[in-house]
Amino acid sequence: MKLTEHFNLDEFTRSTTAERLNIDNTIPEELMNNIQLTARKLEEVRTALLGRSVIITSGYRCPKLNACVGGVSTSAHTQGLAVDFRSPFGTPKQICQRLIDADIQFDKLIQEHNQWVHIGFSPTNNRQIVLTAIKNDGKTIYKNGLV
Ligand SMILES: [Zn+2]
Repeated sequence: MKLTEHFNLDEFTRSTTAERLNIDNTIPEELMNNIQLTARKLEEVRTALLGRSVIITSGYRCPKLNACVGGVSTSAHTQGLAVDFRSPFGTPKQICQRLIDADIQFDKLIQEHNQWVHIGFSPTNNRQIVLTAIKNDGKTIYKNGLV
């Protein structure tokens, strides 16, 4: 199912972990508005990245899947309001800087371990929080801003 010009529903639900563990990661009807909002915002992201692809590595996570991948229970992924992605535009840090410079409205933008970008949106109040996730003694910690 096509959501917007460049995004399909299956990009938000596909998960190798869910497949492996046989978890049904179907999006509940009541979250479809959130998914639509996220897809529209990702079109803005894609435009800011000069039309380079936004490759979603983790989109919607049902609560069970979220727990299996070690996500916090309040994760915006479980509301269909966040995705993790990569893009041939550049490194995660370059992508984050570009989205800030392009004045994209987001709730949370996280440069995660120099491997991917987490971006979350709010239907009501985007807080423009920018963080960098790094490993410290095997534990993930979050630093303010892009470091
Ligand atoms: Zn994420």
